[in-house]
Amino acid sequence: MENTFKYLFYGFVGAFLCIILFIGIFIYKAKRGINFYHTDPIELPLNLGEKSILVFSKANGFRHSDAIEASLPIYEQIGHENGWKVFATEDAGVFNELQLAHFQVVIWNNTSGKVLTDDQRTIFKQWIEDGGGFIGVHAAGDDSHQWAWYEDEVLQAHFSHHNIGQDLDTAMLYLDRDAVNHQLSDGLLDTFDLADEWYCFYDNPRAQTSSVLYTVDEATYDLSGNISFLVKDKNWGMGQDHPIVWYHEQKEGKVFYTALGHSPITFRHQNFQQLLANAIRWTGNF
Ligand SMILES: [Zn+2]
Repeated sequence: MENTFKYLFYGFVGAFLCIILFIGIFIYKAKRGINFYHTDPIELPLNLGEKSILVFSKANGFRHSDAIEASLPIYEQIGHENGWKVFATEDAGVFNELQLAHFQVVIWNNTSGKVLTDDQRTIFKQWIEDGGGFIGVHAAGDDSHQWAWYEDEVLQAHFSHHNIGQDLDTAMLYLDRDAVNHQLSDGLLDTFDLADEWYCFYDNPRAQTSSVLYTVDEATYDLSGNISFLVKDKNWGMGQDHPIVWYHEQKEGKVFYTALGHSPITFRHQNFQQLLANAIRWTGNF
């Protein structure tokens, strides 16, 4: 009998330690990524034309598997409708000078963690500054990338947290007056509601050179990013002005970032598809 209690006790302790270890690895992977690099040039299709888009979905940190899977046919469809070539990969080997030169737009489609080596970063930075079009989607704006230039100058906002209470919370979005007469707002709704995961940033990208396409109304969802007893200081938002989609020029290049895109629901939303098409057209100078 005594032995049974002993085994039960060790069983519970073991299970508890496993759970703590699992949560620890999960948080570490989401915040810092477990980083793997690829540097060999990849095989590209021969028929890339003058208007080609690279959709890059590598996830070294948290992986938005469902969103990535749902997004690929959407990019393909947008490309097809507009006569643009879309090439999708998770292999960072494509970030070399010769192969990047085939693309006018690069989309970081829910990328996470440190996905490029230092040499690849230098090449990609130069590619953007020389006139490339960059689009970051959702996790491309979280804090797992460990790249100061990228966070400071490309994103122009530092990620704090996302709401936790309800995984997908429906909130209202408003087209911003910055963009009303901009080509990026062509065909977009002035206001719409969407179920997504809401990112909160320490700083407002408007304070730098960004213009805002959409803001989210914080009064319409639960802001809290607190995780029970583990994280207690994340029940706050950005206030009246909470940008959720923004854009700016980066030397000769253009940058567009959307914090929307956590789940397939977003990619299937007609207004989001229009937003992506507009973003590609603008960043790529198509
Ligand atoms: Zn997410």
